[in-house]
Amino acid sequence: MPCGQNSSKTYIGRMAPTPTGCLHLGHARTFSEAHRRARQAGGRLLLRIEDLDSLRCKEEFTRAAIEDLQWMGLHWDGDVVLQSHRRHLYLDAWRRLKEAGHIYPCHRSRREISALAPHEEEPIFPVEWRVDPSEGNVFTEPAGVNWRFRVPDHVAISFTDQNFGPIEKTALRDFGDFLIWNREDVPAYELAVVVDDIAMGITEVVRGADLLLSTARQILLYRALHCVPPDWFHCPLVCDDSGRRLAKRTGGLSLQQLRTLGASPAGILSQANSYLEGDAPSAP
Ligand code: GLU
Repeated sequence: MPCGQNSSKTYIGRMAPTPTGCLHLGHARTFSEAHRRARQAGGRLLLRIEDLDSLRCKEEFTRAAIEDLQWMGLHWDGDVVLQSHRRHLYLDAWRRLKEAGHIYPCHRSRREISALAPHEEEPIFPVEWRVDPSEGNVFTEPAGVNWRFRVPDHVAISFTDQNFGPIEKTALRDFGDFLIWNREDVPAYELAVVVDDIAMGITEVVRGADLLLSTARQILLYRALHCVPPDWFHCPLVCDDSGRRLAKRTGGLSLQQLRTLGASPAGILSQANSYLEGDAPSAP
């Protein structure tokens, strides 16, 4: 995979919804920030639909997201990019990572891992369960087993977030060996995003602060693929009336619902902006 497709350093940003549900206030806020930053920089803004998980992603949500973005006036440049059409790129990266000894086949199930720390959202994969990357040599395809990236032990990953300032996360303390391909033969989020952001020449990633830890993991993937990471701008999260993060699966406060209730795009944005730190948004 070539790096530096955007050698002129023209700003290229992206909006990257996953079509597992309807867009909500949090997406409206993040995507309008992405839109604002791209337009302010005189750059381009691309739209990528992260539809790799065929069991959870639905075309109706892709259509709804496109309609919501158009209604919000968050226009993008060029054709919509669908991750489900880009398997060859992820496969190429899987091969490169395997050949360089960065990944290994892992037979442990998600259930086994979460049983270790049932109350943690993302338990750290135990180092005792690692296997030597050379065990991957017999595989010519990723299917049938999980693949994990072996993180460098105790190394601190630092970056300067354009919104939050300096951030540091340490491997094996904040996160462990992470999935890059699953046994159902689906490339994992971390790998697909990095491969696409490289291939699409993205210069700045604007997304929610829930992905700060992913950024540290993704920086390791950039390094392993010998590519330079983009700039990062993480947005504060929008919370619901009980102070919890908005999630697509709750169905509450979707842009479609708010629209039906008579909200305007500007009204939606000011509502989202006023509930960034756990206050309660209500229907207009
Ligand atoms: N697809 C992810 C989401 O909907 C965002 C990925 C990213 O911006 O890196 O949460």
